[in-house]
Amino acid sequence: MKKHNFSAGPCILPKSVMLKASEAVLNYDEGLSLIEISHRSKPFVDIMERARSLALELLGLEGKGYKALFLQGGASTQFLMVALNLLEKRAGYLNTGTWSTKAIKEAKIYDDIYEVASSESGGFNYIPKGYEISEEYDYFHCTSNNTIYGTQMKSFPSTNIPMVCDMSSDIFSRTLDFTQFDLIYAGAQKNMGPAGTTLVVVKEDILGKVSRKIPSMMDYKIHINKSSMFNTPPVFPVYVSMLTLQWLKDLGGIKAIEKENEKKASLIYSEIDLNPLFKGYAVKEDRSNMNATFTLENENLKETFDAMWKEAGINGLNGHRSVGGYRASMYNALSLDSVKALVEVMSELERKA
Ligand code: PMP
Repeated sequence: MKKHNFSAGPCILPKSVMLKASEAVLNYDEGLSLIEISHRSKPFVDIMERARSLALELLGLEGKGYKALFLQGGASTQFLMVALNLLEKRAGYLNTGTWSTKAIKEAKIYDDIYEVASSESGGFNYIPKGYEISEEYDYFHCTSNNTIYGTQMKSFPSTNIPMVCDMSSDIFSRTLDFTQFDLIYAGAQKNMGPAGTTLVVVKEDILGKVSRKIPSMMDYKIHINKSSMFNTPPVFPVYVSMLTLQWLKDLGGIKAIEKENEKKASLIYSEIDLNPLFKGYAVKEDRSNMNATFTLENENLKETFDAMWKEAGINGLNGHRSVGGYRASMYNALSLDSVKALVEVMSELERKA
């Protein structure tokens, strides 16, 4: 039976990508597997270059002074790498949830961090607005989509200081003016590929301004100078990311997938709002198009509902352990049909209850 995979990440990837990736493990180049050839060989160097250029092309950042890197250590390593490379005295952070909180904690190791605003008192169910960003900060950091709480920044503050954004859970899902950001990072395991690589897109002219010595593996400049091959890159995750980015380009790019993502989000949210048995977690204006979070009004229905969605082949619907309830993650590769299947189960529960 076909599974409707609503997992928050690692998550669903396009079927055609999975097929190509699995073939490449058996035979990529003249009988050799992709994962047994040298990362310095032409076939792999071509893959890395293609992945880097597709990332910039899809974001509309080609020829604008940005470089794309595929690094290791997950988005969590970027929490400290950003600070090591950009933080000289003080930076401003917007705290919209667990991942922002972790980014703040890591950056604090190196220097002063000022929380410009936080939605912690509301259980991170909204995005703070109307805060000030001092021009004195070395940079401003925000998280575009809060995977755990299901909130998403619909607009970004305008500021003259560099803006850094953790886009781990909504990169390549919606059109934005990406030139407003000076550094974007995202773990691959949502909209790109398997866990194991992190995309970093950085405007080169913001680098080289801190006085500290930066360890080589943590230094963006070194990775740029080595074309993202300073050490052995995670060859398989980079290859699958390249395939997924090519898949997205062939579909019509971010503009095309954004339309699909809007249809999926509007379907699930209208069910959450119309069905009296469910309640949305995030405030309406800040709802995420990637992760829809909701709870049952009556916990006594939990057992029945859980059995029904599992029976319908739905997977990965449980909310994050810190929030509870349910979370429908609807990344790029999830089809509208999967969301229809979930909505059908939710309305069936209403008919039964
Ligand atoms: N930021 C966000 C928004 C995330 O959703 C996650 C993981 N789900 C992370 C950072 C941490 O990523 P990683 O596990 O790759 O370190």
